Amino acid sequence: MNHQHDSTWYWRSLDFDALTRDFPPPPDYFDKVFRISRDELRERQETRFLATVKRGWEIPFFQRHWGSAGLEPGDIRALDDLSKLPPYTVKELRESIERNPPFGDFMGISPADGARMPLVLQTSGGTTGLPRPMLYAPQDREVMAILGGRRFALQGVRPGDMVMVTYSLGLGNGALAPREALWRYTGAVPVMTGSGATTPTRRQIEIAKAWGVNVILGFPSYLRHLAIVAKEELGIDPHSLGIRSLGSHLGQEDRIHLEELWNAPCHDAYGTHESGMMAAECSERAGMHIQEDAVILEIADPETGAVLPEGEKGSVYITTLYRWGAPQIRFNINDISRIVPEACRCGGTLKKLDRIFGRNDTMVKLRGVNVFPEAIGGVVATERRSNGEYVCIVERVGVEQREEMTVLVEAVHPSVDHAQLQVDLERRFKEVVGVRLIVEVVDRGKTDEYTGTSRTSKIKRLLDRRVSA
Ligand SMILES: [Zn+2]
Repeated sequence: MNHQHDSTWYWRSLDFDALTRDFPPPPDYFDKVFRISRDELRERQETRFLATVKRGWEIPFFQRHWGSAGLEPGDIRALDDLSKLPPYTVKELRESIERNPPFGDFMGISPADGARMPLVLQTSGGTTGLPRPMLYAPQDREVMAILGGRRFALQGVRPGDMVMVTYSLGLGNGALAPREALWRYTGAVPVMTGSGATTPTRRQIEIAKAWGVNVILGFPSYLRHLAIVAKEELGIDPHSLGIRSLGSHLGQEDRIHLEELWNAPCHDAYGTHESGMMAAECSERAGMHIQEDAVILEIADPETGAVLPEGEKGSVYITTLYRWGAPQIRFNINDISRIVPEACRCGGTLKKLDRIFGRNDTMVKLRGVNVFPEAIGGVVATERRSNGEYVCIVERVGVEQREEMTVLVEAVHPSVDHAQLQVDLERRFKEVVGVRLIVEVVDRGKTDEYTGTSRTSKIKRLLDRRVSA
């Protein structure tokens, strides 16, 4: 599994032939991985998993983490033993960085390894303080590019396409990972506008029009913004631009509005800076095929850690099967999703991950039902009578101390019929969240005292006022 060679020259640092045989990029991917038999897949996973665990034992973080759970090298003999390995979260990674600044001891490489192989550094998004750095060895980075290339092929990107990438160019992987994937493994041409801060939005539209851009990648809110600026400010009908495909991480966002704006299908995908592009939608757009030859995703009960059967919602655990520099082995990413229990109509045999329903740490239990503020935000974001601002307040009311969630939603304009919007949103929330919520429509700016939108970038969307006395 280790295709890593000693050389500071990139093209000599890897055995590319062997690497692409093991992790076929498109178009080979479709025959050699996407429709693989489950037995053959399992065999491949097993070999790679055992190689990954072996590599883990060479890395101080895993030696400590596994050792303190009473494990010894040799205890993990098969893929069936996976659940014997203790999971960890970002908390343990942060502690690893604090203990061994600045990079932690969860990576089997350090900048000094630049003497024997080219390294590149990118980071997590990071909301407070320094973002978490990650060093990528050539094998880690190259397979990430292959996984990205597969994702784009699945969403219909073809050689000769012009793909505009509107994510921020910087420390994060948002724009740079897609650039590497598109450039090396799709035959399409990445057009790196970056976000509106790098290339003004109006200019992005002009570029798309002048250069024949036919695929756009970006955050849902920015894809929306682009279409609106085109129409309202430049008088350009987004449909006239001939966009054939949109790519995004949708989370709880509703794709229908975006698809109407652009008259193009929007494909969901899921990746992190620790694991690369783990799952991506095919043309069916009903769940994201997991790149199961490169990553194992388990769904575990957020409270007990027990692995859940297909179809049940829980925390996503990541085990990478290709990473040499910094493997991830049962990393609890704390996103909530589930494995789609049905086979895909596209004929692909790789299992699918449902959308990401939210983060485990923002989830709130309301009368026994798991509710995600993100899901509520997704509904509000597509409601044209609102400006998208909202806050959820949970409290106990009445003599029975019944748990209620009230969602304050701002109307976009005073002329909006508050009562009608309330009725419509309450119905929609019931459909999406599965439990009845109370909606209160308020004027613009009225949720700010709770959310802090105008004062901070750490916006609060949930106030839990239930006191556990
Ligand atoms: Zn499919």
